[in-house]
Amino acid sequence: MIYLDNAATTCMRREAYEKMLPYFTEYYGNPAGAYELATNSWDAMEESREQIATLIGAKKEEIVFTSGGTESDNYALKGYALRHKDKGRHIITSKIEHHGVLNTCKFLEKNGYNVTYLDVDEYGMVKLDMLKNAIKTDTILISIMMANNEVGSIQPIYEIGNIARQKGVMLHTDAVQACGHIPINVKEQKIGMLSASGHKFGGPKGVGFLYVQSGVELEPFMHGGNQESGRRAGTGNVPSVVGMGEAARLADIEMKEHMEYTVRLRDYAITRVLKEIPFTRLNGHRVKRLPGNMSFSFQFVEGEAVQVMLDMRGIYVSTGSACSTGESQPSHVLLAMGLNEEIANSVVRMTISRYTTKKDIDIAVNAMKEIVFKQRQLSSEYKEIINPRKRCGWRKWNG
Ligand code: PLP
Repeated sequence: MIYLDNAATTCMRREAYEKMLPYFTEYYGNPAGAYELATNSWDAMEESREQIATLIGAKKEEIVFTSGGTESDNYALKGYALRHKDKGRHIITSKIEHHGVLNTCKFLEKNGYNVTYLDVDEYGMVKLDMLKNAIKTDTILISIMMANNEVGSIQPIYEIGNIARQKGVMLHTDAVQACGHIPINVKEQKIGMLSASGHKFGGPKGVGFLYVQSGVELEPFMHGGNQESGRRAGTGNVPSVVGMGEAARLADIEMKEHMEYTVRLRDYAITRVLKEIPFTRLNGHRVKRLPGNMSFSFQFVEGEAVQVMLDMRGIYVSTGSACSTGESQPSHVLLAMGLNEEIANSVVRMTISRYTTKKDIDIAVNAMKEIVFKQRQLSSEYKEIINPRKRCGWRKWNG
């Protein structure tokens, strides 16, 4: 098996798994209790909070545990919008956000808020001028993702943070794909709220966190007990929080090494694909992209066909389509970047990790080359174009 879908989820770190185990059977106390078994759980959650805070340059009390990235996005947007509705009802986001943000914005629109969805350029980057121009007197919140899950583009969050701070607007960033993979410092980047998810950086699924800068007020997301300082009621998921904390600790100390490793491997793969498979383009920013992300469009080929055929060989990748009501739709991210439907449907995304080897990449690229070539033989448009008498310069598409 060659797993190249680490943006969907990562393999859990064994150290994180082992650290979780005693919290299922041995230290099972409710962290809210007052006796030793309970304080063991409490202390473990606090240790994890500290590890996560260290990873993003925050203070321990600024970390709220959630059930994952989607909940963190929902909590940040709804919690802030509800609490600050008297100051204004305008929110700014981008067209390439994850549905955790986009669908929360749609919900807010139905409930009396106005949302501006910013365009992005052909590399999937938010345009700063547009952002500046979109801020109005009643703008309360900007939510721009740190890095995109499909094409890997890393947004200029530092500059966005400066704009938000100058205008006195709260900045939330969905850092689900970035956290644990690239350096983050919420203070330097002037981020007010940040969403992240454990399973994207070697922790367990179903757990995440929201960083909320000290002093920022949010309407509580879950009502009930006083857990998470009254912000998120309900008994904490102690084992998962412990696993996420350990994954965060490891990500922090190994980040430089992992970044160097994955960037080298990623660039090797990108070079091979663009050189050896004609009529191919790399989607997203060439440099400002997540260390493990590659998104290619293979013209004249359906991304899904490539995915299925790679799957038959035990190679797991994803496509650029979102499956809704049983029908594949070209992704909103690729369309927002100006790709036409045909090119958006020809996307294959490969996302690598510290466990991916050069041999894995070679096997995957060789297989992809063969599959793309065979699939293109079925395309009359392709045959027309490679006809030497009709060749019309598609080759310069590569790169
Ligand atoms: N935000 C982004 C950018 C993501 O990529 C994802 C998951 O793919 C999420 C949010 C949702 O995270 P979770 O699966 O933890 O709910």
